[in-house]
Amino acid sequence: MLLELKASLRSASAEEYLCRLFEKIEKSSLNAFTTLAREKAIEQARQFDKNPGQGLMAGVPIAIKACISTIGIETNCSSRILRGYVPPYDAHVVERLKAEGAIIMGKTNMDEFAMGSSTETSAFGPTKNPWDQTCVPGGSSGGSAACVAGGEAPCALGSDTGGSVRCPASFCGIVGLKPTYGLVSRFGLVAYANSLEQIGPLTHTVEDTALLMEIIAGHDWRDTTSAEKGSYLAGLKGDVRGLKIGIPKEYFGEGVNTEVEKAVWDAVSVLENLGAKWQEVSLPHTRYALAAYYVIAMSEASSNLARFDGLRYGLRQLGEDEDWHTTFSEIRAKGFGPEVKKRILLGTYALSAGYYGRYYLKALKVRTLIKEDFQRAFKDVDLLASPTMPIPAFKIGERINDPLSLYMADVFTVPINLAGVPAVSVPCGFAGRLPIGLQLMGPHFGEATVLRAAHAFEAATPFHERTPEVV
Ligand code: GLN
Repeated sequence: MLLELKASLRSASAEEYLCRLFEKIEKSSLNAFTTLAREKAIEQARQFDKNPGQGLMAGVPIAIKACISTIGIETNCSSRILRGYVPPYDAHVVERLKAEGAIIMGKTNMDEFAMGSSTETSAFGPTKNPWDQTCVPGGSSGGSAACVAGGEAPCALGSDTGGSVRCPASFCGIVGLKPTYGLVSRFGLVAYANSLEQIGPLTHTVEDTALLMEIIAGHDWRDTTSAEKGSYLAGLKGDVRGLKIGIPKEYFGEGVNTEVEKAVWDAVSVLENLGAKWQEVSLPHTRYALAAYYVIAMSEASSNLARFDGLRYGLRQLGEDEDWHTTFSEIRAKGFGPEVKKRILLGTYALSAGYYGRYYLKALKVRTLIKEDFQRAFKDVDLLASPTMPIPAFKIGERINDPLSLYMADVFTVPINLAGVPAVSVPCGFAGRLPIGLQLMGPHFGEATVLRAAHAFEAATPFHERTPEVV
């Protein structure tokens, strides 16, 4: 899709195409964007129309999640505390996109500091699901998924700490990839839980995701955890004959919606008809993953978010005679929303002397066991398949006051971040009019195989062709 769009923009006008997208966004009720970079983007499109250039994304617009730094464009993480913060530098991924000629349209709405699975914790109000506007788009990259699914941007970037690319991809019926930890530089990504998160693409097709990975993946000296990239587009069209797919038994059954479960088994049959083989496998520590994830994520968040003191970034109110502690507390009390405050408090508690061993250290030990589960499974199989989410998109307001039920929805996505392996969500069916996502997981740096299987599945099924009627 993006390659065709790129080719068509050479004979049409990139400026006209972009203006049509901005018109759509301005009339839209999805609330997918927090900041639009209309003038800058249109200027860039005009330049492209005069002199198209050769980049992989020349003239193609892209939307960027509000926690990925963009020089000159507000990067607020959908938080009051960062309102008005305009970074003086670009994230590595943004530099790479610009170098390939992509046009940054603006920043997308998200759960505040990426903490959530529904985009309801945003200080800018919830984003709506284009398939049913009474439902959430998933989160935390809900704005990125909704703008792509709703036809307001041809592609977007999100970030995935515990499912934040795959969950909204699944709920909005598009493709979303969480790369292997270290494959994409986190330089310029505002940290929530940095040992878990990666930036990843949200697109209409698997080929588009592979194209974006060609651009954003690879070593960057400013992120010492970053690794060399592989090749993603070249092998995409290969077949899946003989590929061994493991079905983790812990990812089916209790708590999984029956329509979701049926769609995923049908997807396994499609892959089987294409020549893949499947077998049951076990990831025995799965039931401890959510608890370990939330302890680790909140602990890291409590430390990472200490930098938002109102002095260096965003919201700033200095009272006349107040001491620093009072100012600091007031700004943080006003600037952070309730979910972020809760996580800072819980994370601080988990790291405090006396509780560190009982919670944080224990969670790290569980993390190792979960990683070993995956390593063992990948000795026998090439890929694992499961539902991305146990349920289709839920109603706005339905779970936000019941944090446990919201956290439970991440049960199949967080183990992947704990293990650091890659996983993609591809559309595999519908429950009524709401999309369902198939999750394909691979071993560390196994993106090429994950994407090849996802591409073969997509080519054999019609789900990615359906688009919502957004009014
Ligand atoms: N829902 C998970 C959380 O709230 C994952 C979020 C994410 O991946 N950023 O932490």
